[in-house]
This record gives sequence, C-alpha cells and structure tokens, in this order.
Amino acid sequence: MTQKKFYSEGLRFECQGSGKCCTSRGAYGYVYLTRVDRKRFADFFKLSSVAFKREYCETTEGYLHLRNPDKNCEFLEGTRCGVYEARPEQCRTWPFWPENLRAKGWSKEVSSFCPGIGKGRLYSEVEIEAQLKSRPVEEA
Ligand code: SF4
Repeated sequence: MTQKKFYSEGLRFECQGSGKCCTSRGAYGYVYLTRVDRKRFADFFKLSSVAFKREYCETTEGYLHLRNPDKNCEFLEGTRCGVYEARPEQCRTWPFWPENLRAKGWSKEVSSFCPGIGKGRLYSEVEIEAQLKSRPVEEA
C-alpha cells in the first residue's frame, strides 16, 4: 500500500513578494538551469546561449547554475525579480521542491522562511506533483 503524502490534502501558497527565496542560504543559493532556462535567458538578454553561459553561469559537479551561488541572486532588484519573464523553472516552482516537500521541513524550516506558505490558494496533490516533475535536473 502506498503511504499517504503529507500534502495529499493540498498545500496553500501565495507569493508575498518577500524575495526571500532569491537570497542565498547555503545549498539553496544554487539556481540551476535547464537547457530551456538557458535558451529563455539568452533570448531575454539577446545573447547567444554560449555568451549567456559565459557571462552569467558557473558549473558545479557538471550542473549549470547562475554564478555566485554564495551571494543573493544578481537579478534580484529590491525584493523583486528583475528578469521575471525569463526566470528559470526552479524559481517558477518554488516552494514545491523535492527538498522542501518533507512534512517536518515544510512545517518548520520552509514555513518559517517563506511568508507565502499557508497563504492563498490551495494547490492540490496533483498540481504539486506536476510542479515537482517540471523541474528536471540536467547536466550541463
Ligand atoms: S532569477 Fe529571479 S526569481 Fe530566480 S532567484 Fe533570481 S531574482 Fe529570484
């Protein structure tokens, strides 16, 4: 028998514009990029994909991410994303990340960190799982 997930009744989330998910906090400072993300950013900046990578990215253990993961995201303007239309899938799917979707972590760390948790509309289990799947991890 499959075990019921702690989010089987859904979870509420609505972005409160705090910008906290864009600030570095150890391992979470990494904004990983898929090929689709890279292409979207390159188009946004009117650069080739190679030039975008050279200008804004770093690779760690084979995975491409925005540079300087130890600092706040360089695209953060105040508490707002300065590249909102081009933001990567990782940012689009916050807070429904595999590392966040553990009952204890969600109710303690994630909820105390992000003021949008528990607010706004209810995301169903199906929607949450779709978000989980839409963030593939790809090697650079
Ligand atoms: S790309 Fe935008 S949404 Fe993503 S971490 Fe940077 S500022 Fe935040």
